[in-house]
Amino acid sequence: MNYLVFKSLHIISVVTWFAGLFYMPRLFVYFAEAETKNPAEKKILQDQFKIMQRRLWYGITWPSAIAVLIFGSILAAQFWPITQYPWLVLKLGFVALLYAYHIFLHAIFKQQQNNNISFSPLALRVINEISTIFLVAIVFLVVLKNVLSMVYGIVGLFVLVAILMIAIKAYKKIREREEFSMPELKNINNDDWKTKLNEEEYKILRMCGTERPFAGEYYLFFESGIYTCAGCGHELFSSETKYDSGSGWPAFYDVIGTKNIRLIEDQSLGMKRVEVRCSYCDSHLGHVFEDGPRPTGLRYCINSIALKHHKS
Ligand code: FE
Repeated sequence: MNYLVFKSLHIISVVTWFAGLFYMPRLFVYFAEAETKNPAEKKILQDQFKIMQRRLWYGITWPSAIAVLIFGSILAAQFWPITQYPWLVLKLGFVALLYAYHIFLHAIFKQQQNNNISFSPLALRVINEISTIFLVAIVFLVVLKNVLSMVYGIVGLFVLVAILMIAIKAYKKIREREEFSMPELKNINNDDWKTKLNEEEYKILRMCGTERPFAGEYYLFFESGIYTCAGCGHELFSSETKYDSGSGWPAFYDVIGTKNIRLIEDQSLGMKRVEVRCSYCDSHLGHVFEDGPRPTGLRYCINSIALKHHKS
């Protein structure tokens, strides 16, 4: 077969390989982000992402990587000895690093398939950008075939990396703001709250009070269902994560979704605590402590009055 046929096959396999290398870390990010969902949602999402990962990795990415190796070797043989072509030596260096990156992604793939998470979603977003850097470096080198141009290329690369890092950080900030921003409070002002809530509810939800321990309605209540905010009806906790902490207040080791609550550092009463509020109406719910049971290790210590139970 002639050289151009192999070159075409090589380019096709490079394109499909990169498609896998670009999309795979996205699936890692989605998998890691699903960690914050409630247990039922998390299982459904993560099981689905694992199927997608397996199909993409074994169906497209690995076969393409092997095809690149075969067709690339056939093409490189035409340039023997390759030391006559410094640009090709450098390019093969980048390709070797790209295979190392592929093996690194394989390790993350294996971890996630076994439900282990060792990288945060932000770290995975950064890892996701590595393929872009390889793509830019290799394409410039192959098209220009000039190592000197690579100096400019590499400078450009660093600028690109810096821009990507800034963009990732900015994106994270925007997402965090979205997650924790307080939506419209439906124009409820303080007087409205006084008429909407009874005296005790007002004291706890709007004035950050605490009910007496061992006295609340839900302290020793373990019926299955969903707990919503007594102020606005927003879903907050599931009975699946409720347990008896012995503290005298209802305790949960997880929330339905991190977007459903807002955490605020609370320095009142001479203690450093983390206050838990409803993210929708900003009502005070209780506090969260780091002495809860597995898997989260958290104890959401919530006033019964701030909750309304709904049977499932
Ligand atoms: Fe609320």
